[in-house]
Amino acid sequence: MPIKSSKFKGRLKAMAILFIGIAIGAVGHYVYSNKGLEDILPPSKAEIETQQFKNYLNFLESSLDSLHQIKSNPVPGDWLYSHDEAGQTMAQYVKIKPVGKTPERFKVYIQSLGEFDATEKAILILTADYLRSFYNIHVEILDPIPVSIMPMDQQRDHQGYHQLNARYILNEVLKPALPKDAAAYMAFTNLDIYPSEDYNFVFGLGSLKNRVGVYSIARFGDPNFSRDAYNQCLSRTLKVAAHELGHMFSIKHCVEYECVMNGSNHLEESDFKPQYLCPKDLFKVCWNLETDELYRFNNLANFWQQIGFEDNANFYRKSILLIEQEQNEKNKKFNQKDI
Ligand SMILES: [Zn+2]
Ligand SMILES: [Zn+2]
Repeated sequence: MPIKSSKFKGRLKAMAILFIGIAIGAVGHYVYSNKGLEDILPPSKAEIETQQFKNYLNFLESSLDSLHQIKSNPVPGDWLYSHDEAGQTMAQYVKIKPVGKTPERFKVYIQSLGEFDATEKAILILTADYLRSFYNIHVEILDPIPVSIMPMDQQRDHQGYHQLNARYILNEVLKPALPKDAAAYMAFTNLDIYPSEDYNFVFGLGSLKNRVGVYSIARFGDPNFSRDAYNQCLSRTLKVAAHELGHMFSIKHCVEYECVMNGSNHLEESDFKPQYLCPKDLFKVCWNLETDELYRFNNLANFWQQIGFEDNANFYRKSILLIEQEQNEKNKKFNQKDI
């Protein structure tokens, strides 16, 4: 069977590196063939054949099982307690033709709205780095837009916060300025935002179809207060950015696993949810953004390591090991069958 895509070649290369490692001091050599190994090779974007999807999802879920938890039952106040959401299967995701990269639209633009101090700017730069690794996409930071662009009737003072109307930002600020090559255009503001008069506030508001979104870091604590406060603000910003960009790539809320794509009603619930994707949403990202999970895990492990979040770096290192172990097992069985 011919090798169909560059992604496939990349995957074989990744496997080759793994198996070279195994071969040292062991059996001697392996002969590579994709025959019988389809279920540990990701389907390319053009391949949406159901059985291969099922096999590959099974492979991800079984390999990574020990690192992921099923979503806990919601308690009053939690997102799922008041929102009756059904989740989104891979088949449903494929069917809606999700927003993703195309030859014409291949960049995520990050736009700051308002005055950011040096610390906040540093957090924004790290957010761009993180999204690059998380979604395997080019990310560019644009020059800031001043808050004076917002008419006074689209701003309000509420519960001690000065707030901006998030819908106005989406429809009147971002949409008219959407760059032609943007897969997504995300504004970050350090002011609080509200989606309509009847809401107190929202952390973010994104469109599943229009490629625009706005997110606020106003409630994430003062990153200049202490090292811990900086880390907390950074961690929260990265989480909301990954979550909202997931929506912009048409991923709905996750109801099956503890996952960064879980909805959250309040900061405590948001803090509780993990930074990472569950295996099901991982598959959506790898398929839609055309990345290999090992490549992605490695980039994310490096990212978290560089900013000193050792636990998160370890999560991805363990993920790599688990995937490699499962590949190794399957390959052994496959080679035994051949003998
Ligand atoms: Zn959400
Ligand atoms: Zn999920």
